[in-house]
Amino acid sequence: MAATTLRHNWTLEEARSLLDMPFNDLLFQAQSVHRQHFDPNEVQVSTLLSIKTGACPEDCKYCPQSGHYNTGLEKEKLLELEKVVAEARAAKAKGASRFCMGAAWRSPAEKDMPYVLDMIRQVKSLGLETCMTLGMLQPEQAEELAEAGLDYYNHNLDTSEKYYNHIITTRTYQDRLDTLANVREAGMKVCCGGIMGLGEDEDDRAGLLVQLANLPQHPESVPVNMLVKVKGTPLENAEDLDPFEFVRVIAAARIMMPASHVRLSAGRETMNEELQALCFLAGANSIFYGEKLLTTANPEADADTLLFRRLGIRSEQREQCVSEAREEAAIVGALEHEATRHLFYDATRETA
Ligand code: SF4
Repeated sequence: MAATTLRHNWTLEEARSLLDMPFNDLLFQAQSVHRQHFDPNEVQVSTLLSIKTGACPEDCKYCPQSGHYNTGLEKEKLLELEKVVAEARAAKAKGASRFCMGAAWRSPAEKDMPYVLDMIRQVKSLGLETCMTLGMLQPEQAEELAEAGLDYYNHNLDTSEKYYNHIITTRTYQDRLDTLANVREAGMKVCCGGIMGLGEDEDDRAGLLVQLANLPQHPESVPVNMLVKVKGTPLENAEDLDPFEFVRVIAAARIMMPASHVRLSAGRETMNEELQALCFLAGANSIFYGEKLLTTANPEADADTLLFRRLGIRSEQREQCVSEAREEAAIVGALEHEATRHLFYDATRETA
């Protein structure tokens, strides 16, 4: 089947009709488009590290890192280079193909740029793709990052232009679009998406999708986040979004930006496995391992690997190495144990 052509002239009406389709029709269409562009059983895995945490001067109403709200988050200065490189190395050993580094800044200060550029060079030298999210970028800053070898820059639009002012007042929608243009101009790939469950309506979700799909070039990565309600932020009591509405956004993103990686992003930890599997069926083909993966024992990471195995999903561009073979052996052991335990309980019930 010929791959669907990439369009940049989506209308709000078209996006709305996709979101309103009968669920099964929408998922079938999304999965069909997905198969024209990707191996349906591969998911790209990225690891995210916060390189500077908290005290951000922006007022994004969902964000625990904003200095405007008291969320009890422990602030951290810019991480030392050695620590970042050690975490990147560990991420690679765990199977991540891309290492994303995020700093809670309005935009990077000149004094911080040399450190940031060094981080890019060193992480890249490990053979990982690099991604950063540092806030707004001037054209010269975007060029410096690209010259250091940065592959991706993440800068989300968050929501529709219409709803944006309800969520952020310290920078404009146009500021965001300007940064995206600067990133493209410098030759880097774009990671750009939004957050669902901010109190927006379906029109806003359609509006965001149209903005993303009508950029001169589709973002290579489109993170679709579900709001994580953090105590102390203005959105801590936001109404829950119907999870099926979330899956619909993933499916519509897949159809409208067929060659982009659609990332199941923040909020995944609160989703059950069935919902995550539905998201993969709808065309999501990228995930984050949690940033705490590398510093603490992380059962989440093992749960992800087990879910991949149960669904027959492979991690994209994953290089086989000895430690992974060991990891696989451990998973097989865990699965066998589960299977035996299940039999044991059945047998007990029968004799009770
Ligand atoms: S700019 Fe980023 S770190 Fe700062 S408040 Fe907004 S989302 Fe949080």
